Amino acid sequence: MIARVIVDVPSRQTDRPFDYRVDSDMAGWIEVGSRVAVPFGGRTLQGFVVGFAEEAEVEKGRLKAVAELLDPMPPLLPDLIELARWMSITYVCTWTTALQAMIPAALKGKAERYVYITEDRGEYADSRTADQDGYERGSGQGQLSLGALSLPIELEQFIRQQEPVKLSLLQERYPQWSGLLKSALREGLLTETVSVRNRVAVKKVLTVFPPDDREAAEAAVADMPARAAKQREALAYMLEQEEPVPLQQLLAGAGLSASSVRALADKGLLRIEETQQDRDPYAGRAFVRTEPLPLTELQSAAFGQIAAAVRSEQQGTMLLQGVTGSGKTEVYLQAIEQCIMQGRQAIVLVPEIALTPQMVERFKGRFGDLVAVLHSRLSTGERYDEWRKIREKRVKVAIGARSAIFAPFERIGLIIIDEEHETSYKQEESPKYHARDVAVRRAEQHGAVVVLGSATPSLESYAAAVLAPGSRHSSGGEGVHAAYGGQRPDYSTQAVETGMLQRAVLLPLPERVGGRPMPGVEIVDMRAELQGGNRSMFSRKLHQGLADRLERGEQSVLLLNRRGYSTFVMCRSCGYTAGCPHCEISLTFHQKSRALRCHYCGHTERSPETCPSCGSEHIRFFGTGTQRVEEELAKLFPGIRVIRMDVDTTTEKGSHEKLLSRFGKRQADVLLGTQMVAKGLDFPYVTLVGVIAADTSLHLPDFRAAEKTFQLLTQVAGRAGRHELPGEVIIQTYTPEHYSVLTSQRHDYESFVREELKQRRILSYPPYCRLILVTLSHEQLPQLVSVSEKFAEELRVLAAEAGVLVSLDSREADAMEVLGPVASPIPRLKDRYRFQCMIKYRGAVDAAALVKQAARPHMEGSAAGKVLIGIDVDPQVIL
Ligand code: ADP
Ligand code: ZN
Ligand code: ZN
Repeated sequence: MIARVIVDVPSRQTDRPFDYRVDSDMAGWIEVGSRVAVPFGGRTLQGFVVGFAEEAEVEKGRLKAVAELLDPMPPLLPDLIELARWMSITYVCTWTTALQAMIPAALKGKAERYVYITEDRGEYADSRTADQDGYERGSGQGQLSLGALSLPIELEQFIRQQEPVKLSLLQERYPQWSGLLKSALREGLLTETVSVRNRVAVKKVLTVFPPDDREAAEAAVADMPARAAKQREALAYMLEQEEPVPLQQLLAGAGLSASSVRALADKGLLRIEETQQDRDPYAGRAFVRTEPLPLTELQSAAFGQIAAAVRSEQQGTMLLQGVTGSGKTEVYLQAIEQCIMQGRQAIVLVPEIALTPQMVERFKGRFGDLVAVLHSRLSTGERYDEWRKIREKRVKVAIGARSAIFAPFERIGLIIIDEEHETSYKQEESPKYHARDVAVRRAEQHGAVVVLGSATPSLESYAAAVLAPGSRHSSGGEGVHAAYGGQRPDYSTQAVETGMLQRAVLLPLPERVGGRPMPGVEIVDMRAELQGGNRSMFSRKLHQGLADRLERGEQSVLLLNRRGYSTFVMCRSCGYTAGCPHCEISLTFHQKSRALRCHYCGHTERSPETCPSCGSEHIRFFGTGTQRVEEELAKLFPGIRVIRMDVDTTTEKGSHEKLLSRFGKRQADVLLGTQMVAKGLDFPYVTLVGVIAADTSLHLPDFRAAEKTFQLLTQVAGRAGRHELPGEVIIQTYTPEHYSVLTSQRHDYESFVREELKQRRILSYPPYCRLILVTLSHEQLPQLVSVSEKFAEELRVLAAEAGVLVSLDSREADAMEVLGPVASPIPRLKDRYRFQCMIKYRGAVDAAALVKQAARPHMEGSAAGKVLIGIDVDPQVIL
């Protein structure tokens, strides 16, 4: 049998399967998706089996064998192997890079050199296949020698006890014998093997099982002499247990002694065994069980369509567009229940930041132990154990951030993507995939339904539901638009290109549950405040609002829109700003350490007292960081209790949750923060939401600036008045006339979209086309310019040959434009100059393939001194 293996070398030259012989001892175990160790170019590497073949591509004699099968159960499934292949084509990356994204970090093994005593080889090899982690110990003893060469007893015994033992460990422990070790290996007294070991192993604990023979145990309790009181107590206790108890817990919890438990085990009355234990981050936490709520009429309609689609086992995509508080989560929960009842599994994606205890509680409360939670704040071991619950079919639901889309379920019925417009669904490093598009592809493989949920859908998803050719609403649009007050949007009938792979069905939830009103939103023009003599960062309105809440004992949330905005240092005399010496970007001022830091490369320096350029003392920091807002609050409202939530206060594991839980317990009056405070929080005593400066993200050189601003304002406004107490929202801005501010005031997504689509259409941006951003970088500018120009020229030639190099303004269905090369918005990063090309295309153009072809000549050869080319398909961040 021949296995086709993708080896873990992320280079383009090796981006294809290599053939390996499968020896008979492994043949029954190896499957598509198995992780193996294989010899490759003189090394041992990890790889994945992607298929089998009858005939090898190399001659028989040169065919090497798979060295080791690394897991008894393959970590990947055939559909994931196929999905990785699709990702490598779609996102222009190597197959192995895509495969690596699918497995937990614990399985990203490292090759290590091990040695064992040669004569024990047979025994070692047997136990190896039997048990991955626990090797049988060598039992032979006695001086080992070969000719003149002999191992010191101490060394030999150590090796025998540990066998096989890491070579590095031996070298470290016995430096005086390193020469001897070398000779022993050369002479064959010791044998070396290279093995891939997991970073983290399954955790094993000693567990005590209740007596198998109850009668004998009961008799023993009755017969035990008085001096064995401890043993009697232990046995009696275990007789009452129905489940096995971890030894540690038995000793600590029940106050029994280890010796008495062991004595009972020796007598055969109890059984002690090693068992696997999950590192469960939610262990010991009780979740209140919640029953399904009777759905409202609107919820029912949406649920009905989702449930029917899941039952049909036909792949489909639905856009659940529901205002904040419209009960989307309840719809998800009930749809998942249906899916589970049909014997299928569900994946729920939420933005990392929304993986708060509140969200987890709702899912655990409904589905209990059937839920695995995957997020990046878990330790490698905890994450591995949650992942194993999925792979070993112990759970039916996986909830997690972006990469949970690769949860190794075998029969997926439903994939939910909550807050689908969030940029965190796009991975910014290779593989640069978008979880939404991967979800659609995975659903295709499983005949599953994808539900995209949002109050403010991305324009791409909205277009897929409403504007895409053949979408249900592109021509008619009866029911849907009735839900928006009978207005039918007037869109052009021109075919719209969406980043999404297929069209979607729109399911609207335009009202809050229980008829709660949307909070009133007030816009404050900060220019007028300044004219009126108010120089503070708080308008009179917001100041008053905060004072009222303090007096009534209610809570407030303050948002500082910090996207692309930070505190920087500037000289008021000459205009000098402190920039990073490695990146062309301003340094950010940090109050606590009084240091300047680069957010891109980490460069740190002391904040200057005088201007390095002109020597003036009028150098100071500008911008409104969260720290400054906090100081200002303390000055204006002495004694006010503020919880600040930003990148500085949430670096520690669990800190995010801790801060929120303190706020939930009303241990603070104000929750102040960046984007983090806008998402998914639900606190009954929050009656005021203030946005300090709405505009800071509006003027970024990014075509999504207005969309992001609208989404943020709408999200944060949704935090107020979700319960009995009515809510109030105050938005401070310098551009009150901008449509993204005005429409968010009225919670009017439709009007926003209508205006925004007009702009996108005029400027040819998604959803009217798709984009690929190619970034080239090098330390030397001339070399970079030359390669960038060659690349762009080659790409234009290829597009022309394919007959698609046509202006997007034309009426052609298939069109592609190559813009650039131009300097990137951040023209230098980590000492490398950066240029970029933007490719816009629509129709049946395979732009990714053309880009790959044009880039290929520049990507081959040695890495040193080369221009690096990064390819980002459907980029979310243009900066
Ligand atoms: P969304 O996810 O759309 O923001 P939620 O699912 O958080 O909305 O629902 C908002 C509130 O309404 C929650 O407190 C939820 O428990 C409640 N809720 C949802 N559906 C119902 C229902 N059918 N009946 C009563 N309350 C509901
Ligand atoms: Zn830098
Ligand atoms: Zn100066």
